[in-house]
Amino acid sequence: MTKPKINVAIDGPAGAGKSTLAKWIARHYQYQLIDTGAMYRTIAFYTDNLNLSDEADIEELCLESHFKFKLMPDLSNLVWMNDREMSHNIRSARVSQLASQISKIRKVRVALVAQQRILADAKGCVMEGRDIGTIVLPDADIKFFMTGTVEVRAKRRLKDLHELGETSTLDEVMESIKHRDHQDETRKISPLKQAHDAILVDTTLLNIKDVFCILREKIDQVISQLN
Ligand code: C5P
Repeated sequence: MTKPKINVAIDGPAGAGKSTLAKWIARHYQYQLIDTGAMYRTIAFYTDNLNLSDEADIEELCLESHFKFKLMPDLSNLVWMNDREMSHNIRSARVSQLASQISKIRKVRVALVAQQRILADAKGCVMEGRDIGTIVLPDADIKFFMTGTVEVRAKRRLKDLHELGETSTLDEVMESIKHRDHQDETRKISPLKQAHDAILVDTTLLNIKDVFCILREKIDQVISQLN
């Protein structure tokens, strides 16, 4: 008998381990992985040339942007916006900060959330972001909220940035993460917060493989209840 497919929501601040876990879960269950941060980053990448106060231009950009994702065997999650591959040029420190800025704009969120819901329509998806459990998929079959201390999260982020060839220091990344957390947690629309029915997972002291086992066990329980 084929197993029922479910939707998995993963939220949390930068560097909490969401991306790695979302990839491992998507590969294990053969689910579609939707990295909503990549969508905000892509819009940020293009708004670099726009005036941020001109919301009509930014809204038009969001409404004209159609996203596709593909998880590769090496676990890179490729993202295309209107057939242009964006996977690598959206990961810089500058785009991270800009993404946090443009994600405060209501019209940006409305347009991207509508598209995220359509992408999750066919069940069997892992969606990661900041507001998946609270706003995008409030009826997701299972929700996780990942956390970790700023220091541990910054160390993970620093490793990613060094792999991209950026020369940031740990202090710089810690400051940037604190600033981004603050913007994401205090914005008026869809702030970063744990959904009331999300499972809280603190990854500070845990090895990411152990966290994966915990998440898999919880997901298997939900799937077996649907059988
Ligand atoms: O997850 P990632 O670090 O790639 O996200 C970049 C930024 O996009 C976040 O700091 C946040 O401001 C924004 N974001 C958001 N809502 C989401 C996903 C990301 O506001 N669902």
